Amino acid sequence: MAVDVRSWRARAALPRRLAVDPDRPESVALQPAVDALAAGEVVAFPTDTLYGLAVDPRRSDAARRLFAVKRRPAGVAVPLIAADVGQIELVVRYLTPLARRMADRWWPGPLSIVLDALPGLDPRLVDAAGTVALRVPAHPLARRLAECFNHPITATSANRSGESPATEAAAVVEALGSEVSLVVDGGSTAGGPPSTIVDARGGAPALLREGVIPWDHVLQSLA
Ligand code: AMP
Ligand code: MG
Repeated sequence: MAVDVRSWRARAALPRRLAVDPDRPESVALQPAVDALAAGEVVAFPTDTLYGLAVDPRRSDAARRLFAVKRRPAGVAVPLIAADVGQIELVVRYLTPLARRMADRWWPGPLSIVLDALPGLDPRLVDAAGTVALRVPAHPLARRLAECFNHPITATSANRSGESPATEAAAVVEALGSEVSLVVDGGSTAGGPPSTIVDARGGAPALLREGVIPWDHVLQSLA
């Protein structure tokens, strides 16, 4: 029987797609994504802002793959998401009182908090000062994926560096193709700006990136 090489190639260029209920994500439904993360693969998934790319942040092979998929220059750190505040203890040295107050007010939600990283994360993911950016997202599927993986995961935007972000699984597939192993399709995400990033290592917060939460709202919440 003749093999249709063109359709085989077209199929080979597509990542696996996994449809998961974004509001009630069952752990059994997410298991293929957890298995892919455990194998060091790159998994796309929806967050409360954009589609993100998850890898196991402890694995250098996975981090290298993540930077390759994004065509991201070395030296730009990658934010992580956690299932809950308790899970961030796996990756940060110390939850400062300031970080605790911001987490209480804004998590789950799109505020990434920068703290000193524990050893064990791939160095590509932490910044030059040894910090890591972390948040608990307001998206049940994103939280559940980190919960089922039993560790925070990366959540860099699912697009090539400098290109527009993706708010749908189909846009991730179009932008990144089979360089991503698996796309968890949880429907549309909110879009708009990404998370606001704040340095909470000291006594006063420092804005590192403007994002969906206006900076004056962050400051007011601490007044
Ligand atoms: P992206 O990975 O494109 O979704 O964007 C993530 C942004 O978070 C980049 O602008 C990074 O510079 C920033 N970022 C990630 N980790 C840190 C960190 N530890 N300290 C400061 N900024 C960070
Ligand atoms: Mg980005």
